[in-house]
Amino acid sequence: MKRARLVVMVVWAMVVGGIAQAAADVLCTTFPIYQITRNVVQGREGVSVALMMPASLGCPHHYSLTPQDMRKLARAEVLVVNGLGLEEFLGGPVEKANPQLRVVDSSQGIKDLLQFAQEPDDGCDHGQACGHEHHNQGANPHLFASPRMAALLAGNIATGLSKADPEGAGIYFKNATAYAAAMNALADEMAAVVKTLRNNRIVQPHGIFDYLARDIGLEIVAVTQPHGQEPSAAEMLKLVETIREKKAGAIFTEPQYSPKVGQTLARESGIPSAVLDPVASGPDNALLDYYEQVMRKNAETIQVTLGADE
Ligand SMILES: [Zn+2]
Repeated sequence: MKRARLVVMVVWAMVVGGIAQAAADVLCTTFPIYQITRNVVQGREGVSVALMMPASLGCPHHYSLTPQDMRKLARAEVLVVNGLGLEEFLGGPVEKANPQLRVVDSSQGIKDLLQFAQEPDDGCDHGQACGHEHHNQGANPHLFASPRMAALLAGNIATGLSKADPEGAGIYFKNATAYAAAMNALADEMAAVVKTLRNNRIVQPHGIFDYLARDIGLEIVAVTQPHGQEPSAAEMLKLVETIREKKAGAIFTEPQYSPKVGQTLARESGIPSAVLDPVASGPDNALLDYYEQVMRKNAETIQVTLGADE
C-alpha cells in the first residue's frame, strides 16, 4: 500500500514536472531581443517564445503597457528584456501583471557600455516620481544594433533561460555559442567593409548606431534627432555647420523615423543620405536569420554611400 502510494507520487511529480516544463512560455519585450531569444531556444521542445510589443514598433522609448501586454505578461513564466532602461515600464507595472515572472536582463554585466551624449528627454520631470529609472545613469541601451553586442546578448539570454529551465541548458548554450560565432563573423565582415571606405564619419538620427559604429569602425559626428522630435530651424543650421566642419561622409536615417530631416540635411550639406536599419523593428514572422540579412544589406549601404577607397 505504502509502496503503491510512493509510485503514484513519483508518477504525479513526473507528470507535473513535465507539464511545467512543456508549458514554459518565454515572452520578449522588443523585436531584436525576441529574434535573438528565438535563435537561442531553437530545438528546445515545449518552450514557446512570443513577442510582447508589436514587431513594427522599433525602440520602445516612452512605451506604456497595453491591456493586451498585461495579459501576455500574466501568462508568461519568463520575460526577456533589453534592459539598460529601454523598457521604462519594468518594475512596478510588470510586477503587478505577474508577481511570479522571472525577468532575464539580456544586457546584464556587459562591459564597456557607452553613455548617451545627451540625456534622453522623456517628457517627465526628474524630480517627480514617474516610476522608472532614467536610462541607468545614461548608459546607451541600443546594444542589439551591433552584431558584436548581439553575440553577448545571446550568451546572457542562454544563462537566464538555463536558470529557468536547467534541463534545456545544453541546447541554450550550444545555440548561443553558434549564434555568437555567426554574429562575430558578421561584425568582422562589416569592419572589413568599413576599412575600405574613403570616409568613415557618419550622422545618425538618435543614439541607435553608437555600438555598431564603435564595433565596426565608423565615427559618429552628429545626431539629428536625439530626443525624437524634428530639429528647429536654428538646430538645422547648427547641424549643417557641424556636418561640414567634421567632414561627415553620409547621413543615415533609420526606418522608425521619417527620412525627411536626414534628406534635408543631406541636401543642405551636399552629402548623401541613406537608410540604415538597426533591426529595432521587423516583420511579423521574421526568419531566424532576419538580423543577419538586414545587417549584410546595411554593410552594402555603408559601402555604396561612403564610397570604397579605390
Ligand atoms: Zn532608441
